[in-house]
Amino acid sequence: MRNIFSRTVAIVLALLTSGAKAQLVKQPNIVLFMVDDMGWQDTSVPFLKKLTASNYLYHTPNMEKLASRGIKFTNAYATPVCTPTRVSLMSGMNAAHHRVTNWTAIQNGDNSDYPDSLYQPVRWNIDGLSPEPNIPNTVYVTPLPKLLKDAGYYTIHCGKAHFASSGTPGADPLNLGFDINIAGSEIGSPASYFSETQYGHQPVMGKVSLQAVPGLEKYYGTHTFLTEALTQEALGALAHRPQQKPFFLYLAHYAVHIPFDADPRFVQKYTDKGLSPAEAAYASLVEGMDKSLGDVVDFLDENQLSDNTVIIFMSDNGGLSRVPPRSGIAHTQNAPLKAGKGSVYEGGIREPMIVSWRGVTPAAASSEKYLIIEDFFPTLLDLAGAKNRSTVQNIDGKSFVSSLSSPKLKDNKRVLVWHYPNKWVPEDAPGISWFSALRKGKWKLVYDYKRQKAELYNLKKDIGEQHNLASAKQNKALMLTKLLTSYLKSYDAQLPVYKTSGQMINWPDGSLKTQ
Ligand code: CA
Repeated sequence: MRNIFSRTVAIVLALLTSGAKAQLVKQPNIVLFMVDDMGWQDTSVPFLKKLTASNYLYHTPNMEKLASRGIKFTNAYATPVCTPTRVSLMSGMNAAHHRVTNWTAIQNGDNSDYPDSLYQPVRWNIDGLSPEPNIPNTVYVTPLPKLLKDAGYYTIHCGKAHFASSGTPGADPLNLGFDINIAGSEIGSPASYFSETQYGHQPVMGKVSLQAVPGLEKYYGTHTFLTEALTQEALGALAHRPQQKPFFLYLAHYAVHIPFDADPRFVQKYTDKGLSPAEAAYASLVEGMDKSLGDVVDFLDENQLSDNTVIIFMSDNGGLSRVPPRSGIAHTQNAPLKAGKGSVYEGGIREPMIVSWRGVTPAAASSEKYLIIEDFFPTLLDLAGAKNRSTVQNIDGKSFVSSLSSPKLKDNKRVLVWHYPNKWVPEDAPGISWFSALRKGKWKLVYDYKRQKAELYNLKKDIGEQHNLASAKQNKALMLTKLLTSYLKSYDAQLPVYKTSGQMINWPDGSLKTQ
């Protein structure tokens, strides 16, 4: 009773605070359907006004169905790689601020930064987030699921976690406030999608992979693809949930991350289209993920839950564009966007996002409002009516709840910042390794630390970031470079350090790094 009472009070207070008419509403259930490494164009849903070649190639009928019920957010952003996005989601902090700027390695103390001859690795939080203080190399935060749980929610984690390295509290979703954890751990990439190899637990040369997916023993040898096993587990958890509580389901697929294991249910049609084995496998991972989305939506419909459930579809970074493992010309896979995973160009950070909430989101709508992954933290708490939350961290994200009923809302004065002072891959690649970026309105500034140069793009006219206007519009470039610097300084962001001198590189506006 106490829970139900506090929920009602919270919602009434939330409505009064927001100026809305006070009425008794139930806390909505929340499904956050998070895909791994899915690009903005890896779908048959058009996120541009016109259809692209990718929209014709990929088949995602359930994303189409979700989009027909709700709002496409066409300017939704994450960070260039996995863990920074996931830590921003769980903390509400910008990556420059929480300092988990690269992906966390499996073992604690290991630094995933690729070695470099010119720069030392920055001292980022290599072990990820922590719900407890004083854990070395982590950012201490009050995590989102704990706050939802405190607000009365039953909280389910299913799939990829990748919040922190092994041996630290943040590696286990149960320590973050999830009531149950299915298959989540410190790993960021599944050893295998196949039940026949026990999702990586079957020893190879006498050794079990460190990236074996935990907790799915009952599916071994059942010919159940990993994406399907996670879906069945998630729906099983929903079926057995405590009925008196609202639920938060975080279904975070390992798909479509490497390895490109072909989903046997869907691969043939892509092979028949003439795709390479890698591209056909990739497309099958996308469609298998989409099938999962359809199963979740059907479950909610069949159980009369759709009227009171917010479904949010999102990906954690841009589509992988390295060749190999992709085929074709490197860094063209997210066209018309530039580059891909690892990059601060649009191909690395712009995500396919859809929100559906029957009775609230208008059908088949589209929002151009730009937003970023740390915004999910205050948004979900607003949805939960958890207004008076107390967190150990300062929140950078802004709630987009008002956009769910009013998709035309925009805020072109808002500033978004990306900061990736790390080396991701050995090769020199577009916008990848030692970059920052900023968006304000239609303008995008990209700052390259290695060359100490800024680029300026007008995203309204040039979504592909092909026409650098930094010379033609020097004042605009200079102003945004100063703005980027001020944000980075306010976050106490880290910059690359020269190996030879031990000096930190200058801030983007040329001012010296003094600490
Ligand atoms: Ca990822």
